[in-house]
Amino acid sequence: MNDEINTRPVYSFELFPPKTPQGMTKLADTVQRLNAVAPRYFSVTYGAGGSTRERTFETVALLRDRGIDTAPHLSCIGSTRAEIRDILHRYRSRNIRRIVALRGDLPSGMGATDTGELAYANELVACIREETGATFHIEVAAYPEVHPQAPGAKQDLAYFKQKVEAGADAAITQYFYNADAYFAFVAACRRAGIGIPIVPGVMPITNYSKLARFSAACGAEIPRWVGKRLEDYGDDMDSIREFGHQVVWDLCRRLIEGGAPGIHFYTMNQAAPTLRLWQDLGLPGAEP
Ligand code: FAD
Repeated sequence: MNDEINTRPVYSFELFPPKTPQGMTKLADTVQRLNAVAPRYFSVTYGAGGSTRERTFETVALLRDRGIDTAPHLSCIGSTRAEIRDILHRYRSRNIRRIVALRGDLPSGMGATDTGELAYANELVACIREETGATFHIEVAAYPEVHPQAPGAKQDLAYFKQKVEAGADAAITQYFYNADAYFAFVAACRRAGIGIPIVPGVMPITNYSKLARFSAACGAEIPRWVGKRLEDYGDDMDSIREFGHQVVWDLCRRLIEGGAPGIHFYTMNQAAPTLRLWQDLGLPGAEP
């Protein structure tokens, strides 16, 4: 299974679990629209500490019931091994075969001593392999612009390598808007002997204030010229969407032309921005 996964470009769509039944109904419509272009799989995020545990299960079930290949995210921080084991067995029995394995971030209010039994993602990957062998194709996170808590780029890369050595099959990156950061990171990985596919994560731009807040927290850099242009548009959402589309389209084009093994779209549960990119990039399944 893994060979097949590793040779064709992998295009995937990330969703988050809605908070309300109405949100779930809306998501079902979004999924239907996104699934029309036949991505390789959808992934569903997971709140660290298990805060979205049941909602992530429900969202995964919604997708699986439609026969869609689905990868739940699973974060280990604040969880016990027994909890992780239970979740893995639930997914295995639902025929889930792909997992995005993460550390997660401690919810505010939790102290450094509340990390749980698995403190870092490499320990989670090792735990998944110990508990379930080769059942799951494991994706891990990668940071072309360096994880915000890492002591430095070199050490972050060394920690990334530990996740791969623990048994990760592929990686998805944090989003970024500078293609050079991605290519330099992939080159550094190859020099360090890391051979797994590293799929760039791409975040469509639709709302500047939210994006700026989120980027500051997760360490993704918005290039100054992009930020300044977006700021100038103020509340003019149409212009933000239009300019954002051009910026992200050009980023995707450079990534694909430069040999990226696919793209993971952070859809934010919205079909239109991702489908427009998909179509304008001429990706497989796009309308002529
Ligand atoms: P790790 O790989 O464990 O790294 C975390 C930090 O610790 C880094 O700074 C690293 O340099 C350092 N480190 C790693 N190993 C060690 C070690 N052994 N000793 C000391 N330091 C170490 N968050 C969620 O809560 N839910 C989600 O669904 C979710 N999905 C995501 C999907 C993707 C594709 C990405 C890129 C991120 C996602 N996140 C999610 C965010 C992620 O949980 C955070 O970025 C988190 O801070 C780090 O997770 P990680 O798995 O990369 O951690």
